[in-house]
Amino acid sequence: SRSLARRMDGLALSDIVQIKQRAAQLAGEGRRIVDLSIGEPDFDTPHHIRDAAASAMASGATHYTATAGTPALRAAIARKLARDNRRTAAPGEIIVGVGAKQIIANALLATVEAGDEVIIPAPFWSNYVDMVRFAGGTPVIVPCAMANGFLMTPDQLEAAVTPRTRWLMLNSPSNPTGACYTLDRLRALAHILERHPHVRVMEDAIYERLIYPGHTYHSILDASTALSDRTLWISGVSKAFAMTGWRIGYGVGPKPLIDAMAVVSAQTTSHPCSIAQAAAVAALDGCQDVIDQFRSAFERRRAIVCDGLSALPGIDLIAPAGAFYLFAGVSELLATMTGRGIENDRGLADYFLESAGVALVPGSSFGAPGHVRLSFAAADDALRHAVDRITAAVRALA
Ligand code: PLP
Repeated sequence: SRSLARRMDGLALSDIVQIKQRAAQLAGEGRRIVDLSIGEPDFDTPHHIRDAAASAMASGATHYTATAGTPALRAAIARKLARDNRRTAAPGEIIVGVGAKQIIANALLATVEAGDEVIIPAPFWSNYVDMVRFAGGTPVIVPCAMANGFLMTPDQLEAAVTPRTRWLMLNSPSNPTGACYTLDRLRALAHILERHPHVRVMEDAIYERLIYPGHTYHSILDASTALSDRTLWISGVSKAFAMTGWRIGYGVGPKPLIDAMAVVSAQTTSHPCSIAQAAAVAALDGCQDVIDQFRSAFERRRAIVCDGLSALPGIDLIAPAGAFYLFAGVSELLATMTGRGIENDRGLADYFLESAGVALVPGSSFGAPGHVRLSFAAADDALRHAVDRITAAVRALA
């Protein structure tokens, strides 16, 4: 007899969790380990945000709130959308969730059933694939080449759409590649989508505020207002304000979809923590300079890893346009390693962890074998040390 439901088949904790466990084990044995597997800012949440949470707690914001989020937070999100995204949204078109992650999961649970397809460009945030399966749907993975900047082309989109397509997932700037769609590229995708009215767009813009000079964030709605009644736009405070632990994300979309997602929340978590919601209001309404401070630190760190690793033979890099990940091509490096027991990106990530003490994540975990992902959300010194150790480890095999 089964002990678990069939919907659990094939679902597991991510590879990253296993890598972190091994890194912690090695550190416990006294090794110096630089953990670049993680996807979270190493900064503390700014003081004014923590203060707002403390006063919310002291003044009694300790009760259930509206399932879709407090009116105060939804109003703050509406102001943020007007300010940063030149977009108007009514409170009924906004829902707050337990991180952006819950928004994505609830949208899929509310709309996807057996036989439904969801187009996921690769490299992808691996949770997309698992969440689609959990919802009973079929992920349709579209590999996007480094030569195209890891971005999906209009022809690829056209070829992937079928009558069963429910969603296109778009993640810009991307985890794991840092790639960001330009307005022109979004126009070209929108042009295809306009001809397929049954396809909705889920835009995961969690890294929208972490964009480097020379690049600009755009939503697909900047390219085509015709898609507004079938686009769910998702962001949150985790990455922009160093608030990963507070678990506040939000979705903006057509009211019938938002209402259905609120029903899923009502039957599972209810709303996110009342105190965290008050903190998120302070983040969105407060001084936005903190984002610039974080971004300039990440920009400096991006240079450390890009400059350091681009000197290595056999490694292909594109400097990321946004987010805090470097997705390096290692196929050429692997080709020089045949006969040394390192067969693929997983073997290479193991080698870097065991022999160089640097934890990073194989590209296979993101649907793109032949690459590794390195997070540069770590201290400058740690990154310099990691670059030195990786360089030495690569030279040792040459
Ligand atoms: N979307 C992407 C692409 C992410 O990388 C992450 C976090 O790693 C999330 C969503 C989840 O963010 P949150 O902490 O708001 O749930």
